Amino acid sequence: MRILSGIQPSGALHIGNYLGAIQQYIALQDGNEAFYFVADYHALTSVRDAGKLRQYVFDVMVDMLSLGLDPEKAVLFVQSDVPETVELAWLLSTVTPMGWLEKCVSYKDKVQQGLPAEHGLFAYPVLQAADILLYDADLVPVGQDQKQHLEITRDVAERFNNVYGGKKGVFRLPKPYILDNVAVIPGLDGRKMSKSYNNTIEIFDEPAVIRKKVKRFVTDSTPVEAPKNPDTCPLFGLFKLFAKPDDLAEVERRYREGGIGYGEVKTRLGEALVERFAEPRERRAEWVAHPDRVAKVRAAGAEKARATARTILEKARAACGVG
Ligand code: ATP
Ligand code: MG
Repeated sequence: MRILSGIQPSGALHIGNYLGAIQQYIALQDGNEAFYFVADYHALTSVRDAGKLRQYVFDVMVDMLSLGLDPEKAVLFVQSDVPETVELAWLLSTVTPMGWLEKCVSYKDKVQQGLPAEHGLFAYPVLQAADILLYDADLVPVGQDQKQHLEITRDVAERFNNVYGGKKGVFRLPKPYILDNVAVIPGLDGRKMSKSYNNTIEIFDEPAVIRKKVKRFVTDSTPVEAPKNPDTCPLFGLFKLFAKPDDLAEVERRYREGGIGYGEVKTRLGEALVERFAEPRERRAEWVAHPDRVAKVRAAGAEKARATARTILEKARAACGVG
């Protein structure tokens, strides 16, 4: 199967990105044709500093490599190394009804969070549709927040196919790949963990910072002795995703019986996080020390991605009569 997904270089990657997206990227790079990219065109909707953007692009490449994405298995590339993307986005935008974009909650959310209401942010789902359709993707691993955008991608593809595709159609219709237990990882304040909400636990924060940040996770005021319901506690939900089986069983029992405080759960979560990312942290230091290696991966990825993208863009251009 053809897999495709991207991450914005809009800040440091957090454990929501890891659980909701990167873990699935890693699982799917085996036995599939996977394309994973750093979405720098998208990040322009929130990052307005060239130096910063370049640094974030490098950081996300390095993060993906350190966490286990393998350039021998998957094509790792940077979105703007394939400028064909923006041409396809234009072709698609000519068949995208305004109403489809107007109903997107992610746009409304981000404007409410203080991002300027600009055309790029509004038209973001069309660029995303181009990202996906340009690679004939079958499956797109994402978090729940991207579900609506994926539906728009399918609708736009169908619409383009109906208008221009003849019997065979130009684009393949992709499906989202969303795992229920990690679809929405809550942030420290209880909202979706998000780079733009300042509520993240960053994967590669210093261990001391991770331990400290976890302490900020919002909880209710149930006293230590009182029994608590692990099934509805967001803190436990997160702990569950990182804990060793024995620790998990113990903490779950003490939740139900009473006798465990949130402070202790936070401490244990902090330790589990530091441990889980210890090896990637070491690998990361290696990559950071060798930016030439990162540049090589980037160049090789761009070449492969571009070859695929060109074929599909040509099909789309021919179908609608430009060029
Ligand atoms: P931004 O705030 O700039 O949008 P983000 O933190 O939402 O950043 P993205 O780059 O937009 O990160 O998303 C990358 C991938 O991570 C997407 O597939 C997205 O669905 C997923 N993702 C982001 N946040 C979460 C979360 N809290 N839980 C699960 N998945 C998430
Ligand atoms: Mg996002």
